[in-house]
Amino acid sequence: MNVEDWKLGREKTRSIVAASLAMVVAGCGSNLDIDATIDTPDQMETVQANSVDLTYEDFVQQYVYKEPWEGGVYIYDGDTPVANEKQLYELYQKLVSPPSLIVNTVGGSDDKWSASQAVSLTYCISNSFTASQKSAVISAMQTALEGGWETFANVNLTYDSSQDSNCTATNNNVTFDVRPVSGQSYLARAFFPSYSRSQRNILIDTSAFSTSWPLSGILGHELGHVLGFRHEHTRPEAGTCFEDNNWRALTPYDSASIMHYPQCNGSANTLAFTTRDAEGAAALYGAPGNPPPPPPPGGGNEQTATASGTVRRSRWVYYSPITVDSGTNFRVVMTGTNDADLYVRFGAQPTTTTYNCRPYLTGSNETCDLTVPAGQTQAYIGVRGYSSATSSYNLTVTWTGP
Ligand SMILES: [Zn+2]
Repeated sequence: MNVEDWKLGREKTRSIVAASLAMVVAGCGSNLDIDATIDTPDQMETVQANSVDLTYEDFVQQYVYKEPWEGGVYIYDGDTPVANEKQLYELYQKLVSPPSLIVNTVGGSDDKWSASQAVSLTYCISNSFTASQKSAVISAMQTALEGGWETFANVNLTYDSSQDSNCTATNNNVTFDVRPVSGQSYLARAFFPSYSRSQRNILIDTSAFSTSWPLSGILGHELGHVLGFRHEHTRPEAGTCFEDNNWRALTPYDSASIMHYPQCNGSANTLAFTTRDAEGAAALYGAPGNPPPPPPPGGGNEQTATASGTVRRSRWVYYSPITVDSGTNFRVVMTGTNDADLYVRFGAQPTTTTYNCRPYLTGSNETCDLTVPAGQTQAYIGVRGYSSATSSYNLTVTWTGP
């Protein structure tokens, strides 16, 4: 694809997204908006979804743009490229029959803290709050963490009151700042792990101190964003309030989740934690007090292995895991006939929905080129048949052994 064409296309779609953002905001009851984390052009959705009744043909016609030049890709959601029709159909299936707490993704990867970051996050609470507001915030943060996220997952957020007198967006002695604002359309807003320091703030509007929702619930929701969790109501099952598809499901859909706006067809109006919130947090960060093992030391020799086989439609061929070192390269090249799909996952066998790499191209020529993530020692390879005709394939795996 021509890079310049893509840049132009992207700039063009940005303005469409920005325009629709204004429309969406105008249609919302402002006092019920808990936060504005989603209200950035990158993350806002152009499609107002009640997509449950949408046929594939209607989906393509209404929401998908195909770049008109040779090699052009499909464009969904304003600026999201989809490489081929096979991937487009999967996106459609995800929209109409999705799986469930969901983690934000950036470029297809989970937007989360590393294992070491997750247990050493720090925050200050600004002295700009009134004394009574500040004590309410201290207490609500404690409730949301010590009675919530920290009991579900291996995360630890520490209040550093020594930074309260300088609790600003530029204070690098803390991970994030908690500050008061007033006159905003939201009760509070937060950020995702990928955000830079200046954007890593929890801002609490004055109105949050006089709403019927408990402050600990509001901050529990915001701290969910801080840990990378998206609004549960962006899942199609909500039938409304759709945002975008840049997320990965961790649990089945949960209309009572603390991450689900009550006003978006939620089934609870309490902003309280649910069992699935706890399960989703543990799925992303591990159980409390159980950090993943430290990465093994580097070094070792480059190794190569080959394999070949055949695979029928919708059948899997799995290979025994390969022992790898974090930080090293792991590469699998597949060639073959018809259409087999290559999957690679670290730590467990891949499935059609969980993998670290899956090119999902038309045909059987696919490559996964990966860096082994921290804490991972086992690489699993799977090949799955896609075409109705049986596919044959050859694999060449290159890695650095411990
Ligand atoms: Zn939110």
